[in-house]
Amino acid sequence: MNYPAILEQIHRDIQPYLGTGRVADYIPELAKIPADRFGMAVVTAAGDVHRIGDADERFSVQSISKLFACTLAFQLIDDELWSRVGREPSGTAFNSLVQLETEQGKPRNPFINAGALVVTDVLCRRFVSAETALVEFMRRLTGERTVDYDLRVAQSELANAHRNRAMAHFIASFGNLEMPAEVVVDAYCRQCAISMSCVELARAALFLCNGGVVPATGERILDSSSTKRLSALMLTCGTYDAAGDFVFRVGLPAKSGVGGGIVAVLPGEMAVCVWSPGLDSNGNSLAGTLALEWLTTHTGQSIF
Ligand code: GLN
Repeated sequence: MNYPAILEQIHRDIQPYLGTGRVADYIPELAKIPADRFGMAVVTAAGDVHRIGDADERFSVQSISKLFACTLAFQLIDDELWSRVGREPSGTAFNSLVQLETEQGKPRNPFINAGALVVTDVLCRRFVSAETALVEFMRRLTGERTVDYDLRVAQSELANAHRNRAMAHFIASFGNLEMPAEVVVDAYCRQCAISMSCVELARAALFLCNGGVVPATGERILDSSSTKRLSALMLTCGTYDAAGDFVFRVGLPAKSGVGGGIVAVLPGEMAVCVWSPGLDSNGNSLAGTLALEWLTTHTGQSIF
């Protein structure tokens, strides 16, 4: 596959779309990121790295952290997770509270905020510092010791976490949090504030393309069955209420974040991450989704 030529073509064709969409503005640290940034990286299972544009620039991973937090929770409690979180697409916005009341505080899936708060609760219960455990995990997956969370972003997240706080307390009222809601929200905000580049995120997701084993080190992260399940969740729930349209257009399991990043995987072949901060109305990167759609069209590769 001629990834360099395909990435160059995507980079050329995406130019008119850069700056479209709306940059997340609920905190100043995200609002100030120029809307016209664009980076894309493909890392193959064989270890080849292909990059274009701002692929080495770190950005706020935001909800992409939910994928890796869920991986850690899987490692810790495996199928026990499903007694506390569902695995159905929500059909509502990532930060919606509406289903929680009728569904008795059991969030639809681990990739919306409510579900991620329960996942973070699992981590808070078992690690002295959940966010440090997650940062360490990201360092291990990437081999990059400088990966960290951005303290200013985390503080801003915390200062503006009214909705997430409300959600955590609501879930707690149904008895579905083991740790104090404030502890969980604090860790959740810090994990959202992790900064990574496209190359680093694609590398971190590579175990999903390889049956749960990091190709570079041979380290097993998950068994092949859990890896399959996590990828299935990405496909059905990874891009919020746009998951149907996303999979129709792109055809890959993916996880997005309001920082403008999207990481996607093609089992057996490659992991890809794209970053462009302008978001569509569902909170997914507008140019990023388009770039991934073109990638699977040009390569003729998807899971279908
Ligand atoms: N920090 C954001 C929140 O909790 C992350 C949301 C996202 O990336 N979709 O609302």
